[in-house]
Amino acid sequence: MTVRIDEAHVFRIIEENRPKTIVLNAPGGLLKQTKELMATVKERYGVNCILAGDSCFGICDTVDNDVETLQADLALHIGHNATVREVGRHTFLVDAVDDVDFDEVVDSAMAKLAPFRKIGLATFSQHLHQLAPVKARLERNGFEVTVGKGNNLMMEGQIFGCDFSTTFPIRDGVDAFCMLGESEFHAVGLALATDKPTFMLDPYLNEVIDMKEAAEERRKRAILTVYKALDARVFGVITGLKEGQKMLGRSRWISKRLEMHGREVVELALRDITAERLAPHREIQAFVQTACPRISIDGFTFDRPVLSIPQADALVALLEGREIGEFLQRPKWIELTVGLMKKK
Ligand code: SF4
Repeated sequence: MTVRIDEAHVFRIIEENRPKTIVLNAPGGLLKQTKELMATVKERYGVNCILAGDSCFGICDTVDNDVETLQADLALHIGHNATVREVGRHTFLVDAVDDVDFDEVVDSAMAKLAPFRKIGLATFSQHLHQLAPVKARLERNGFEVTVGKGNNLMMEGQIFGCDFSTTFPIRDGVDAFCMLGESEFHAVGLALATDKPTFMLDPYLNEVIDMKEAAEERRKRAILTVYKALDARVFGVITGLKEGQKMLGRSRWISKRLEMHGREVVELALRDITAERLAPHREIQAFVQTACPRISIDGFTFDRPVLSIPQADALVALLEGREIGEFLQRPKWIELTVGLMKKK
């Protein structure tokens, strides 16, 4: 596997903006390539490069504010391709593309896909360019294939771990989804949000994985956590401090609902929401966090309920005497504020 950062785009940004110092950040899997890019930029243009080393999981993890803190001129956010090219005051998004081929794994998928006729395709940033060839290959084998339309943040067929708004509208017109790439995180999310049979096509191991079991396990655990939280009297409502997932309005709305139903609320703000960070708050019996929903839905390490926004909505429904409903079946589990940071 070779993941390539779009160096030519970086060179254009440097030549047009002539920065002295830049800040970069990238997900863990792209740190090696990012450091190589830093060395190239330094050698070619004499630009100082600072790597922002905090966790970077998604497009929400931009470091626009750090540009001023570090007296830099601009930031490069690597590897979360989107229709948006610039966000905030200083940040440029730089694509990274994986050159792995899907032909073999698509051929391996034919037997498992045989019971279905209409297939929806989805993938994440690094494999977007594979949607067209995979679609053509499936169509040559008799499938009817649909790729969901892009929007103001995401490209055609693209999903984030919290945002399935390209695929959600086509779910009724397909029998199953194929998610291209090795990421259980994305594939489980797609299965949960659309409630459709979903297969992950892993091109590295040439494996085709039915996500049914993993999705059902996450769904049951998400419901159980809501019911556990129902018994709590003291809640911590956490607003995330990451730039692209600050949901203060949502935190306030949830706090108000909890208080209306007799719960005590402690409002918190955290950059990283981990079991260690929550441990000192012993008086709190359950948390709601309005940052990344995957912290709650994939989090296995918390000793108390930690609800995401969809789970908090389900909790409020129960408190108001309504049905809990299929709260994970929605196009977005969070409204990423990175979309609102779009440059003029
Ligand atoms: S909030 Fe969304 S984009 Fe950000 S890390 Fe979580 S799943 Fe990814």
